[in-house]
Amino acid sequence: MNQSAPIIVKVVVDRPLNDAFDYSWNSASLNAKPEIGMLVEVPFGRTNLVGLVIEVSSYTQINQTKLKNVLQVAPLIPLDSRLMQLGYFASQYYIHGLGETLISAIPKWWRTSTHWNKPLEQLIAKEKATAQSNSKKKIAQNQLNEEQTHAIQILSNHQAGTFNTYLLNGVTGSGKTAVYLTFIESLLKLDRGAQALIMLPEINLTPQLQRRIQEHFPEENLAILHSGLTEKQRGIAWHQAMTGAARIVLGTRLSIMTPLPKLVAIIVDEENDSSFKQQEGLGYSARDLAIWRAKNERLPIILVSATPSSQTWHAVKEGRYQEIRLTGRVGGFQSPSVELVSPDKSSGSITINSKMISALEDNLHKNRQSLILINRRGMAPVITCLSCGWLSECNNCSSYMVMHRQLGHFKSPMMCCHHCGQAKTIPQRCPLCGDTDLQPLGRGTQKIEDQLQTLFPEAKVLRVDADTARTSKKSDALFGEIHDGSAQIIVGTQMLAKGHDYQNIGLVCVLDADARLYSNDYMAPEHLFAQLVQVAGRAGRFSGEPTQILIETRYPNDPVYQYIKTFDLAGFMENLMLTRQEAGLPPFGYQALVHAEAKQRQEVLAWLNHTKEYLQSIADTQAGITIFDPVPKSIARLGGWERSQLLIESRQRGPLQALLSALDQYLRERSVGRISKISKVRWSIERDPLII
Ligand code: ADP
Ligand code: ZN
Ligand code: ZN
Repeated sequence: MNQSAPIIVKVVVDRPLNDAFDYSWNSASLNAKPEIGMLVEVPFGRTNLVGLVIEVSSYTQINQTKLKNVLQVAPLIPLDSRLMQLGYFASQYYIHGLGETLISAIPKWWRTSTHWNKPLEQLIAKEKATAQSNSKKKIAQNQLNEEQTHAIQILSNHQAGTFNTYLLNGVTGSGKTAVYLTFIESLLKLDRGAQALIMLPEINLTPQLQRRIQEHFPEENLAILHSGLTEKQRGIAWHQAMTGAARIVLGTRLSIMTPLPKLVAIIVDEENDSSFKQQEGLGYSARDLAIWRAKNERLPIILVSATPSSQTWHAVKEGRYQEIRLTGRVGGFQSPSVELVSPDKSSGSITINSKMISALEDNLHKNRQSLILINRRGMAPVITCLSCGWLSECNNCSSYMVMHRQLGHFKSPMMCCHHCGQAKTIPQRCPLCGDTDLQPLGRGTQKIEDQLQTLFPEAKVLRVDADTARTSKKSDALFGEIHDGSAQIIVGTQMLAKGHDYQNIGLVCVLDADARLYSNDYMAPEHLFAQLVQVAGRAGRFSGEPTQILIETRYPNDPVYQYIKTFDLAGFMENLMLTRQEAGLPPFGYQALVHAEAKQRQEVLAWLNHTKEYLQSIADTQAGITIFDPVPKSIARLGGWERSQLLIESRQRGPLQALLSALDQYLRERSVGRISKISKVRWSIERDPLII
């Protein structure tokens, strides 16, 4: 580049915009040459913003006198081209601004330019401290069994520099984690700089795996990335990944966009978990992005699950992914026995089933722990007036306020909306008729806890849900009581079934499973089956009698329950695939949603109808695209906003992509950001929605 020619950089910022903006670059004052992938600070409107350099050139259409200067450069290695490519792809696929996509993936700590002038040594000293805090003691690893050895053989045949997706499928305790850690070990040995990325769906699952990784790799530096860390901790971990100081990165979905200069493998554990999908903003699936990244960087990726997603199952059947199956359970523990029980005739949904009560009694005698799972926290899902039928509706949302025996620091009963968070005291009298006969309807964790404590006054009953396990300290204490055996009956939500190894569970009772099944969500059966398998995975860690699982249902003939009785994953999935194929639902078709919300229902529907007309005018009907009528969402009013949506289905990905890009452009021309100029409707477009 000619010395005297101006240096122009194109910068994207974290705003819902598709454009990049030109700035002039003064190498002398910035003390750096411009590079793509640099994080910079630029003047933007009346403020300064952090932006990312996406192009360096010597040409601009902007008048020299109006061109503004880049103000500062972050003391970071520029994002590498492969990571930028991932950003471009995600931005296109998920119909989101490039700046929003790439910059929001950078930890806030580094997006705050005031941190750029602080000496980096401070951070780096911290990095060294964490690196050294890893115990150097090598814990002897178990000898792999025959199946695991076979799995490793398949993986070690992977040719470096090529892409392949593996599905590692086996029940909990079949030794999947041991397999992928051993595989990573072999890769890290081959190349002293190599890095691996391990992704988990939830923060709560990280401490256990973290311990396991540290035991397996006592000498390697491990970086943890999730939203439960402080900004600074995340900033440090991300920096360690970026510089190559961390050899293994363990993180939740947000870690998929971490710069890893020498990445050699990606693991997605519990790949079917819906937490890999972000519901707001970019709305990405970290599992899908991980596969794209592995392909783009020519790496092996291992999807790990006891119950693979329908999408992954389909890809295996089509020969696109390679399945590695572990059929046994390490230690040969028996798989649990499943029994379906129908609710008691009389007081069905209010009290605990009589069969379950006698099973609980038996189990207590055997000195084994029992788990009672119910996916509703609080005392009762709604309060009613026995005299006029009033129900405790939330005034912000189209949902009911849930009764809680106590909530946070309130010691008296409260009612709380689980959607907008509004909490109120329970009225003494019915707001409609003034009657005092207000009663809770249905049951939640608190009610079950109360009933059990009354039934078994001698037993230690423990409740584990989002209310009792609000902080990680509280949650640790609760799980401590389960692990040390002091809790005998444990009542809780699905939270109980995720990832924890319990040693002494003799009985698991599942309440209200039907409620999850009969919703309008086509994914519900798949999710329920996975949850029940997960529940079963918590059981049977001891030898001897198999753990008993009792599932209360009014619909014992539903395929989910029929196949779960024998843990027939293949049978269930094949059955599921047939129904999906007939309906043209994913993975046999593709979907997108246009979300819209405003203060007035009419405004939202009018806007969506207009959007539908536009879509119909441009859609290639030959390509198998269906545009549905706008409908209110299942929670149609949330926090005072009226919400509706429009579903688009397509047999193929390509035409849907084209349609959505055109729609995005059309809507943006008529909006400020994502708010319509005409009707004040807030909108967004979502690809591959999990909730419809
Ligand atoms: P999964 O990931 O399928 O749940 P893990 O790899 O966590 O299975 O294995 C389950 C348990 O068995 C763990 O406690 C693990 O340490 C242990 N384990 C795994 N492989 C072996 C083996 N080959 N021999 C003995 N114990 C093993
Ligand atoms: Zn009343
Ligand atoms: Zn509400």
